[in-house]
Amino acid sequence: MSFNAQQLARPELLTLVPYQSARRIGGQGDIWINANESPFNNSDLEQLNRYPECQPPELINAYSQYTDVAANNIVATRGADEAIELLIRTFCIPGKDTIATFGPTYGMYAISAATFNIGVKKLTLTEDFQLPSQWQQQAAEAKLVFICNPNNPTGSVINKAQLEQAIQSMPNTIVVIDEAYIEFCPAQSVADLLSLYPNLVVLRTLSKAFSLAGARCGFLLANDDIIDLVMRVIAPYPVPLPVAELASKALSKTGINLMQQQVAELNRQGQKLAQELANVAAKVIAPNGNFVLAKFKQVDLVKQLLIDNGIVARAYSDPVLADAIRFSFANKQQTDAIISVIKQIE
Ligand code: PMP
Repeated sequence: MSFNAQQLARPELLTLVPYQSARRIGGQGDIWINANESPFNNSDLEQLNRYPECQPPELINAYSQYTDVAANNIVATRGADEAIELLIRTFCIPGKDTIATFGPTYGMYAISAATFNIGVKKLTLTEDFQLPSQWQQQAAEAKLVFICNPNNPTGSVINKAQLEQAIQSMPNTIVVIDEAYIEFCPAQSVADLLSLYPNLVVLRTLSKAFSLAGARCGFLLANDDIIDLVMRVIAPYPVPLPVAELASKALSKTGINLMQQQVAELNRQGQKLAQELANVAAKVIAPNGNFVLAKFKQVDLVKQLLIDNGIVARAYSDPVLADAIRFSFANKQQTDAIISVIKQIE
């Protein structure tokens, strides 16, 4: 059986006529009175009194240029978090379907699933953070398999050949590769495999390397059938006009150059931090994103030391990570300050 997105989708979506927003219907003329908008624009931003395009073309085209993925294979969302939720709502039947995840990993896959009464098959990465053997049998029932690469919070990567094998080995399941941190190791991206695998979805965001977490802008990259189904579920206006403008600017040539310079600098600072941590921690996982996970023998003392010095890092309640702290990469001045505190760890 070859991949069939419709067969995996919630059946009620196949006959659903998506909401026909005024923007979608469009029209021609000078007096626009079809969307109960105000005629007064009180902002410096042009057209802020009007609803934005569902998928602002300038933004989609900019992301298409950046990724080399066709514009019609891109959906812009309110952060990658919304893309996760959209996939679950598009493909999973509440009370019946499940997703699969490989932990420890990003928490929102499971939480998003739980909010829609979708089951979660929680598989565990191997000790060196690779996919466990025979995982396909355990994930056989899952509609969506989420693989975070680089993985948050471990910072580990699964190499591209392994990922391709994973995508190939589940031809009737949607394999979602979350590339939120991919700008920190761009060679690992599987976005170029989209044209080969109809069951592949890639998630991206401007929250990390593009430093626009406050703007809430992410992307879902997939083939036509999946895009068509997701577009039936998405809100009529998911991308606010100011966000589209900011995001398009960040994706200009100048914006991409700036991002790449900052990524290089963050990687330099992060390597410095990881090396210092290696001197005092029980274990440091080589970072591939913009953060490093370290495990400590006396983690509570380290947590207190960080708190006492005004350093807000991330600790975990998950028992697997009980002795771990994740440090996001910072600028030089902050990194030097963190390192001087780390040196106090015994
Ligand atoms: N995926 C991963 C792996 C993340 O770490 C995050 C944010 N922490 C997201 C997705 C969500 O990103 P966004 O800000 O685009 O919603």
